[in-house]
This record gives sequence, C-alpha cells and structure tokens, in this order.
Amino acid sequence: MIHQEVYQTILKDCQEKNATLIAVSKFQSVEAIQALYDLGHRDFGENYVQELVEKQEVLPKDIRWHFIGNLQRNKVKDIAPFVHLIHSVDSIRLLNRIVSQAERFERPIDVLAQMHIAEEDTKFGMDDAEMIDFFEYYEKEVEGKGVSVKGVMGMSTYTSDQEKVKKEFKTLVERFHYLQSKHFIGKKEDFSIVSMGMSSDYKLALEMGSTMVRVGSSIFGARKEA
Ligand SMILES: *Cc1c(COP(=O)(O)O)cnc(C)c1O
Repeated sequence: MIHQEVYQTILKDCQEKNATLIAVSKFQSVEAIQALYDLGHRDFGENYVQELVEKQEVLPKDIRWHFIGNLQRNKVKDIAPFVHLIHSVDSIRLLNRIVSQAERFERPIDVLAQMHIAEEDTKFGMDDAEMIDFFEYYEKEVEGKGVSVKGVMGMSTYTSDQEKVKKEFKTLVERFHYLQSKHFIGKKEDFSIVSMGMSSDYKLALEMGSTMVRVGSSIFGARKEA
C-alpha cells in the first residue's frame, strides 16, 4: 500500500527545487515498489545488499537503484553490476573496493561521500579530517578511473528539534561547497549532489539546498523492520 497523495505532494516539492526524490523501499514489498513504478517512479533506495539483489532480480530493469545503507566491502561485488549510485561511501578502503569491482565488471560506478553530521555516534560517515584525506586520495588515485564521487550524503540527528537539524544540514552544505571549490575547480557539474532529508525533515532539507531526498515511510507507510 502506498500513500499516493503524499507521494505526489513530496514529488512536487522536489520538482520545484530541481531535486531528485528517492523512494526508500527497505522492508517494503515488491508489490509496493511495482505500484510506485507504475506511477512513473524510477529512483528507489535500499539499505541491505541481500534484499536489494533479490528485488532487483524481479523488478523492471530500468529502475535506478540507490544504495543508502552501511556497505561491507565484501558485498560490493553483489551490487556493482547494476547499482546506480552508492550514497554511503565513508572510507578509502571501501572506495578502493568499489574501484576494483568497477574494473572487474567494466562498469563505471558513481558514489557519494557520506559525512558524519549528527550528534549520535551511531550514525556513519566521515569527520572533517577523514573527509580531507578521502578527497586528496580520490583526486590523486581514483578520479578518472571508473569510480566518480558525485557529491555528499548525510543523515541528521533523529530529533524534533528543527533548529538542530537545520544546523546539521548547513554543515553538510558548507562541506559540499568547500570540497567543490577545492577539488572540482572548473568541473563543478562533476560534483553536484547533496543527498539529505528523509520523511521527517525533507522540506527543511530542500530549503537548505538538498538536491536528493530519501523518503521512505511517508510514501510507503511504516516499515515492518526485521
Ligand atoms: C531508512 C532511511 C531513509 C528513509 O527514512 P524515512 O524516515 O522512512 O523516510 C533515508 N535515508 C537512509 C540512509 C535510511 O536508512
């Protein structure tokens, strides 16, 4: 069951800001994804490799699958043949594994650098120092070799305090602009994605400069978590 009216509203909000809406379908049925697909939707986000692979096999091949969960290096090979964008790259080791799988499957792979912006230490992502090392390494060793870092991704603190969330989104956007001016001079369009905002805060995220929002439960209803 999908919430069609809510979906249309969120889609319109995104279109007004030229942002991409990713429908986060983790724990949702193949039938629910197909129903949204039938409305014309193509961008879907998943958090778990096994679940994604199973869904990808049975659903239409023109779906753009976004991987947004914590990714183990030994699982990269399972999604490398078809994934559209990996949002959750937070280490050089993971980046290197994606490079080797892109070579193996002779398929370019686009990724985002996940930044730590929330206060809880349960949320993944790089801090400032890791981010600097990551992009220096990327520029020297990876750029132009099959894997492209297209932008940044972040998850805000789970809180009703909108001011706090706003501050965290602002931090992510500032880092994005810093990286753009440091590493993508003269090729800003190569680094143009800011993935931030979920069901509870997507509107704020769009106001703050998000170009990609990841919305699950508002569209599909509550998840039956495993
Ligand atoms: C589950 C998830 C979402 C979607 O969350 P909702 O609150 O259901 O909109 C977005 N981003 C990430 C990284 C997620 O894990």
